[in-house]
Parts: sequence; C-alpha cells; structure tokens
Amino acid sequence: MSPLSFENTAIAFKGKDDAALRRSYWLFKLIGNPSMVRIGGTLTNFALGIGFPIGWLIKNNIFAQFCGGETVEECKAASARLAEYGIGTILDYSVEGKEKESDFDATAEEIIRTIDAAKGNPHIPFCVFKVTGVARFELLERQNEVVRGTLTQLTEKDQAEWSRVVQRVLHICQAAYDADQRIFIDAEDSWIQDAIDQLCHDMMEKFNHQAPIVYNTVQLYRHDRLEFLKKAHAWAKDKGLHYAVKLVRGAYMEKEGKRAAEMGYQNPIQPSKEATDRDFNAGVKYCLDNLQDMALCCGSHNEESSMLLAQWMDERGIVKNDNRVAFAQLFGMSDHISYNLADAGYNVVKYLPYGPIKEVMPYLLRRAQENTSVKGQTSRELGLILKERKRRGNEDY
Ligand SMILES: Cc1cc2nc3c(=O)[nH]c(=O)nc-3n(C[C@H](O)[C@H](O)[C@H](O)COP(=O)(O)OP(=O)(O)OC[C@H]3O[C@@H](n4cnc5c(N)ncnc54)[C@H](O)[C@@H]3O)c2cc1C
Repeated sequence: MSPLSFENTAIAFKGKDDAALRRSYWLFKLIGNPSMVRIGGTLTNFALGIGFPIGWLIKNNIFAQFCGGETVEECKAASARLAEYGIGTILDYSVEGKEKESDFDATAEEIIRTIDAAKGNPHIPFCVFKVTGVARFELLERQNEVVRGTLTQLTEKDQAEWSRVVQRVLHICQAAYDADQRIFIDAEDSWIQDAIDQLCHDMMEKFNHQAPIVYNTVQLYRHDRLEFLKKAHAWAKDKGLHYAVKLVRGAYMEKEGKRAAEMGYQNPIQPSKEATDRDFNAGVKYCLDNLQDMALCCGSHNEESSMLLAQWMDERGIVKNDNRVAFAQLFGMSDHISYNLADAGYNVVKYLPYGPIKEVMPYLLRRAQENTSVKGQTSRELGLILKERKRRGNEDY
C-alpha cells in the first residue's frame, strides 16, 4: 500500500464530478474575497428577510457544498455519499442565537432526532450539540461565574432556569447513552466554557463508566488547556471513567482577543500560532499515550497534525480503525485530508451542518467573515481543485 499522502487529489475529489468541482472552485473563490462575502452576506440576509425566493439558489450552491439540507431526512443523501468512501457523518444542527425557552426545548428535541437517526447506523458514529443551543447565553455567563467562584450563587429565578438547562442536557446525553451513541459537546467562548466543562463532566460521571459516550471539547488555542486536559483526564481516571475528548485549536480567536482587550484581562489565547500548534500536537500525543482510558477525536483541517496523528498511531501499533481514535473535518472542506485518511483505513467523520436556510445562512456567513482560518484555507482549497482539474484534463477556468 502506498504511504499516506494528502497530495493525492484523485482520491481527495473522487466524490465530486466535474460540475461539482467547478461549483466548489467558484464558491471558494467567493469566500476568499472578504468584500464579496460581506456584500453577498448582506444581500442574502436581506433577500431571505423579505422572503425573496432565493432558496433554490442557496440550496444548489452553498448548501450543496457545505450543508446536508434543511432536515435530518434531507441529510441522508450527503451522508450516503460520504459512506460510499468510508467517511462517517455527524449531523450538526446549526441553529444558534435563540433566546426563548420554547426554542431551547425544540433544539433539544432536534438533537434527539439526530441521535435517533444515528442509532444503529454505522455511518453516523457520533452526534453533537452546543450548550448555547439549549441555554441562554447570559445565564451561562452567570453560571460560569458560579463555577469560577466569582459569584456565590444564582438567583432563585436563574436557578430554576439553570435546572431546565441541566434537564435538557441530561435528556440528550441519556438518549445518546440509551442508543449506544457517542456524543460531542462543542467548546465555545472562554467566559462560558467553565460552565460547559462542568456540565460535561457531570454527564461523563453518569454515562462514561463502561465506554466513552460523552466527549468534551478542548480548545488548544487557549494557553491553559493542555494542563486542563491532563487534569481532566486525571479526574476521570480517579473516578474510573473513560475520558473522551475532541481536540480542536479553537474557532473564536478574534472574539476572545477583542473582549480581553476591551475588558482589560489577560487574553486567554496563546501568544502565537506556533504555541497553539505545539499544544495541539502535544494534546494529541497525550491522548494516544493514554488510550487505555481515553478516546480521542482530532477535529482539525491541519495537514501536519493529521499526518502526525496517523504516524503516531502506526508507531504505537494502534490499528487504523481503532474506535477510540477518529479524525474529523467539516463537510465541504479539506476533503484531501478526509478522503485520503479514509482511503488508508482510518476512522474519519465529517460535521454535516443542517437546518432551515434562513437560520443556517447567517451562521455560515458569519463564520466565513470572522474566522481567519477559513480565509487562510480557501487558497489551499483552490490550489487543490486546480490541480485536480488539470489531472482530469479540464483546464477551462
Ligand atoms: C470537526 C471539527 C469540530 C470543531 N469543533 C469546534 C468546537 O467545538 N469549538 C471550537 O472552538 N472550534 C471547533 N472547531 C474549529 C476549530 O477550532 C478551528 O477553528 C479550525 O478547525 C481551524 O483549525 P485547524 O486545526 O483546522 O488548523 P489551522 O488552520 O492550522 O489553525 C487555525 C487555528 O489556529 C489558531 N490560530 C491561528 N492564528 C493564531 C495565532 N496567531 N495565535 C494563536 N492561535 C492561532 C486558531 O485556533 C485558528 O482557528 C472544529 C473544527 C472541526 C474540523
């Protein structure tokens, strides 16, 4: 078997015909241009706001590239296409920014629907949710202060609201446990993350005795998180639990820096990209070296980290499809990593965002506008697409 390489565009794009490849090319060209994203975003939001019928345009282009559809049912086609190439799906209900209790209940029910769809389906090995999908942000901020000890306790009203949040999270994790389905809890802003970590650890204490069911997410762009990872593992070990974790670099760097500067506290983000990379790779290695009671998902589009994890597994004699280790990327991005890893026999999954167009579009556009890593990645995607077009003998753009 030839050695693993992310340069192989024939494998990377085998799921895309010429028309799909051309669409990807133009979409990445658009995303790579900040003013186009800004103008396109404003126009799209306006058109959706006044009910202008652009749904078909979005669905056939942006959704086809980055999303599964509007419902779990609609995601089946994209999931089946990924499965053909040995890649698993994570149904990611991407609706955010809600405020009402009824919306939080509805989101919790939707997450349960993703668990039902995943149950017994080997092509959907993980589920996922964000705590901000089932809880009010301001309440999370206050609960965070309680966990940190900067606030003694919540008011009676807040306590009642918080117990409803705990019930939702419990309901979701219980459903995952009953379905024997592993579930990620995404990491978010540092000023609500202690509350999320606490919730997640409470769920691990309930459900991770026999197997890794509930996964926390650790963002290694924070300078304190490698130590956190080790402490959390020691805590779980002490309790006889499986410590399951998704490692990511972190998506909210700009926001974190801005808030820290405005409020005059130390920026929680690492001093440089190199420091983030160093801690991320050290975290990956730490998990591999403690796999007897850990499970790891490497959520990254970074070629070096993905290659290192594959190499380190091989060096340690960990079989490629060991179900304690998974690689994860986002649907429509970094296919050269996903498809080549899957082709070589590693466990690979893709987050497949879905939800009503009107709700998902603002989320996708904001991510494209805010996230420097998305901007940095577009030129790599374009280069790979052009290489594949050339290989196929189609150089008409
Ligand atoms: C499957 C999956 C799940 C994810 N889940 C989450 C989640 O739950 N929570 C979350 O926050 N993010 C999540 N992300 C996003 C992730 O955190 C990164 O933003 C994104 O993947 C880019 O990082 P990278 O590892 O792919 O590699 P790269 O593109 O190599 O790294 C870019 C990242 O490096 C860091 N960085 C860049 N410049 C600097 C700098 N100057 N100093 C310090 N650090 C820097 C930032 O984190 C930036 O996003 C997820 C990503 C994937 C693929």
